[in-house]
Amino acid sequence: MNKAVFIDKDGTLIKNVPYNVDLERIALENRVVEALSMLQQNDYLLIVVSNQGGIAKGYFNEKQLMKANAHLAGLLAASDVFIDAFYYCPHHPDGVIADFAKKCNCRKPAPGMLLQASQELQIDLKNSWMIGDNLNDVEAGHLAGCKSVLYDVGNETEWVMNRFRKPDYKTSNLLKAAAMICEVKYENIEEHEPAPESL
Ligand SMILES: [Mg+2]
Ligand SMILES: [Zn+2]
Repeated sequence: MNKAVFIDKDGTLIKNVPYNVDLERIALENRVVEALSMLQQNDYLLIVVSNQGGIAKGYFNEKQLMKANAHLAGLLAASDVFIDAFYYCPHHPDGVIADFAKKCNCRKPAPGMLLQASQELQIDLKNSWMIGDNLNDVEAGHLAGCKSVLYDVGNETEWVMNRFRKPDYKTSNLLKAAAMICEVKYENIEEHEPAPESL
């Protein structure tokens, strides 16, 4: 069985630009490369799980999303970080594109994408984590049986709570999240590898 870290895309892997598929406006979040490198070196599969209701709403199509995902994968691969799989939910209950305008089991907070990935990639969900910038990510992770990290950078604004929406860990530093998951002392990393932005 594999272990995985499921990662939200918009606002977690990349800077939050709502409904964006413009390659020029795709920029990595702070410390993503360091964080994902550490997770990858510790044998976690890296799996992107992303709500893309913009497809149901007709803002862009799946082909455009594929190009954006490929661009993102390229940005990371340039630093030897390799995404093992991208999953996305194209649905939205208020969509206008008939095929995608519906309730589904994959739109987070539902855990459908994580459950599908676990079947397709033989993932042990109990030894896996979900990281995302809002509580729907946290809930999806917990509903799938994973532990969850809230990447808390101000993108969650409603804070509607239930018992599935309490993160196991909360941080505004993705490298800290990775260190916690890998059980590495963050202070030790900082001593030996100062972050570029802190120089
Ligand atoms: Mg997000
Ligand atoms: Zn869906």
